[in-house]
Amino acid sequence: MTQPPRYQIIPRKYRPQKFDAVVGQEAIVTTLQNALRFKRVSHAYLFSGPRGSGKTTLARLFAKAINCHALTDQEPCEKCPSCLEIKAGRSLDLIEIDGASNRGIDDIRTINENVQYAPSSNYKIYLIDEVHMLTKEAFNALLKTLEEPPSHIKFFFATTEAHKVPATILSRCQRFDLRLIPEALIVSKLHYIVQDMKRDVEEEAFKLIAEKAEGSLRDAESLLDQILCCSEGRVDATSISMRLGLVPRIFFEKLDVAINGCDLRFALESAQDLFESGKDPALFLERLVIHFRTHLLNKTGHPEARLVYILDYLTGWLLQSGKMGLKRIALEMILLHLVRSRDRVTIDSLVMHLSELEKKLQEAPLQVEKKTEEQAPVLTKPAETIVVPPAVEKIVTAVPLSPPAQQTAATTTPPTKITVQRHETILRFAAVELEGTIKRS
Ligand SMILES: [Zn+2]
Repeated sequence: MTQPPRYQIIPRKYRPQKFDAVVGQEAIVTTLQNALRFKRVSHAYLFSGPRGSGKTTLARLFAKAINCHALTDQEPCEKCPSCLEIKAGRSLDLIEIDGASNRGIDDIRTINENVQYAPSSNYKIYLIDEVHMLTKEAFNALLKTLEEPPSHIKFFFATTEAHKVPATILSRCQRFDLRLIPEALIVSKLHYIVQDMKRDVEEEAFKLIAEKAEGSLRDAESLLDQILCCSEGRVDATSISMRLGLVPRIFFEKLDVAINGCDLRFALESAQDLFESGKDPALFLERLVIHFRTHLLNKTGHPEARLVYILDYLTGWLLQSGKMGLKRIALEMILLHLVRSRDRVTIDSLVMHLSELEKKLQEAPLQVEKKTEEQAPVLTKPAETIVVPPAVEKIVTAVPLSPPAQQTAATTTPPTKITVQRHETILRFAAVELEGTIKRS
């Protein structure tokens, strides 16, 4: 009876076996390869960075390289016994220790006792993952060996929280800080994997996976793995959206139309749909932010001032929702607010408009009284963002923009020279009044 071929999950199957396959950490790869080229390998390395950025992958790869019997162009040969053993995870010279579950002093004492035994290859390498989890006593015990390590011993540490590693340990390591992987690089790696697996995935789907993974290549690969495992034929973005609990792109297109048309019904109905379909509201909020941010970057969809306003508003919710979660009513409020954002004006833009008005008044100070009625329309000039109710004229005319007449007469100061501070106060006051008026109307 033939055994079915063993399935290897994507993150494992496509883990880089050579430096040139490492994604997004070029500077570190170059430094490590230079160490190999000039034969200046330190006795301790610390790989620090967010989860899924490739810390242990790089550490294993470097371990393979320094123990390779036939290193070629600073790349492990993949053929010698050492390379094959490390790749298969059965090398006696690469000892991987999980710092989270082996964090006590006894665990480190075992290492200290064993470092005297010679390796079968060039070096015996201890790779301690999540090293920051070690206890204080364990770190102290480790320090003893780190201070005077036998020449055939190397320590590779990996951590997501380098700040928790004692300075005494850090100072004895060459440190590498790995970064999150840019989305474009994640997408191109996913492309490669899908091609290699001879599967068909819609372009948009790659982006959704990469976005969801937030810079973690491993997360992206795991997601792709889950999606490919439970689907046949072409994988489209809609099914991925469903699977990831995301709202499909078409919704955001409809939302743009609803905002431009101030379609309140859309807001109410879609809030209900979203809630009933069991979408994660927090995730939805994030997607909303991404959607409008993309518009802002590409200068599409809505006027810039409106996009800034919407993003400000959503960010406020984003900060709050982390603490209290998003209820259905909140979802409805958010969508209603967005749909009504077309007619909203920010205080900043009001102040700007009032400043413009004031400038005009200053340019023609003597005609202030007469010209008020003709000047007023200046406020309404960018008509798409601001509708000025009659009350504005009252505010503008009620505020004494010129100093009392006798003062002007006593000094030679022209009526336009009023202190900037006073004007700002007046303008702010007018803006607040105006916004109140608009809200009431
Ligand atoms: Zn080799």
